[in-house]
Amino acid sequence: MARSVLVTGGSRGIGRAIALSLARQGFELVLNYRSDQKAAEEALALVEAEGARGRLLRFDVAERAAAQTALEDDMEAYGPYWGVVCNAGLHADAPFPTLKNEAWDDVIRVNLDGFYNVLRPVVMPMVRAHQGGRIVTISSFSGIAGNRGQVNYSAAKAGVIGATKALAQELAKREITVNSVAPGLIDTEMIEGAPIDEILKRIPMRRLGKPEEVGAVVAFLFSDGAAYVTGQVLQVNGGLI
Ligand code: NDP
Repeated sequence: MARSVLVTGGSRGIGRAIALSLARQGFELVLNYRSDQKAAEEALALVEAEGARGRLLRFDVAERAAAQTALEDDMEAYGPYWGVVCNAGLHADAPFPTLKNEAWDDVIRVNLDGFYNVLRPVVMPMVRAHQGGRIVTISSFSGIAGNRGQVNYSAAKAGVIGATKALAQELAKREITVNSVAPGLIDTEMIEGAPIDEILKRIPMRRLGKPEEVGAVVAFLFSDGAAYVTGQVLQVNGGLI
């Protein structure tokens, strides 16, 4: 039976590309999304076109109780996941003095609380399955270096990186690796409105990254060859400084 992998925010952008990379490796995909049903159905069709099995699982990663219920119901029906990619995220940028309370709260809740809300219900079933496993979080260059206008987002992503490293230590003896992939500027809907020309000057490769280029790195972390890689942050950013 194929190993199943939950990808949060798997309907669009980077999450969809990750799901497709994993589908090509023979994993069964569970695609989480929050609101865009059409995009989620398209992503599922693409996964199935790769010959992989998949299903959709709708919940908001920021809603703790709803996430727990959805995940527990899914695991009861289909069994524990072998892997999880915590990819769902959002930003709400503003210079710090003008940052709104909701922008701080929403960005922390989706990006950082999302880590806890998703992984807390699924980790113990993974451990009890005694099959090892993989957890990958999608953080950001902003969480490593900080970024103007993204105090909230940088804080959330730095928190995700710290949580990833700590969980890696807890799960290592269970052969469950926990790593983070930190993209730079990737060509998805998320970067609409970003000052791309300015940022390109800081990218030695002088281009945006493609979602598939993040998907390929996540797929590596899910491979047998990456079994001894844990607690790491892999940057995918064209050399961004
Ligand atoms: P997109 O905005 O293109 O896609 C976001 C995905 O996450 C969608 O599938 C969306 O589903 C889902 N999502 C958003 N909020 C929630 C939520 N609360 N609960 C469940 N699902 C949710 O973003 P990207 O693909 O660009 O980003 C993916 C990840 O990569 C994020 O964590 C982001 O912070 C990170 N990242 C992106 C970079 C970039 O340049 N694009 C750079 C660095 C990091 P729906 O449409 O249904 O809401």
